[in-house]
Amino acid sequence: MTGRTAEIAVRCACGSAAVRRVNQFVLHDELWWDAEFSCDACGAHLCEHAGAEPAPDDVRAALLAAHGPVRLRLVGPLPSRLPALKVVREVLSVPLPRAGELVEELSREGLEGTAAEMEFLGDRLRRGGVPVDVDR
Ligand SMILES: [Zn+2]
Repeated sequence: MTGRTAEIAVRCACGSAAVRRVNQFVLHDELWWDAEFSCDACGAHLCEHAGAEPAPDDVRAALLAAHGPVRLRLVGPLPSRLPALKVVREVLSVPLPRAGELVEELSREGLEGTAAEMEFLGDRLRRGGVPVDVDR
């Protein structure tokens, strides 16, 4: 799958230019992110973080800058907004009024996020009986 990895230029403790590679992906039905640091000059390699949780802003920003946002949209009208509201509320942990706004966006211009975030939300919505499609 594309769009799940980005590299951030950083400086290693040894003084050389190094790379922080960040990944966001769906694993065991959860949205994960991780980060690893590596420096070719001194050979330092470090797994910084891995966890099933929302990615921090700098990680999201790097992914969005590298690949651009992915847009998730409803396919066709919904007989009822309730299933979509339920899934959006659960997956994004937002209060009901915010979930309502997001479902509204989903039915119009679409919701934007990283590729992994939209894959994750899209899978959940489809399983909840809400037809959505990713729009690239
Ligand atoms: Zn180094």
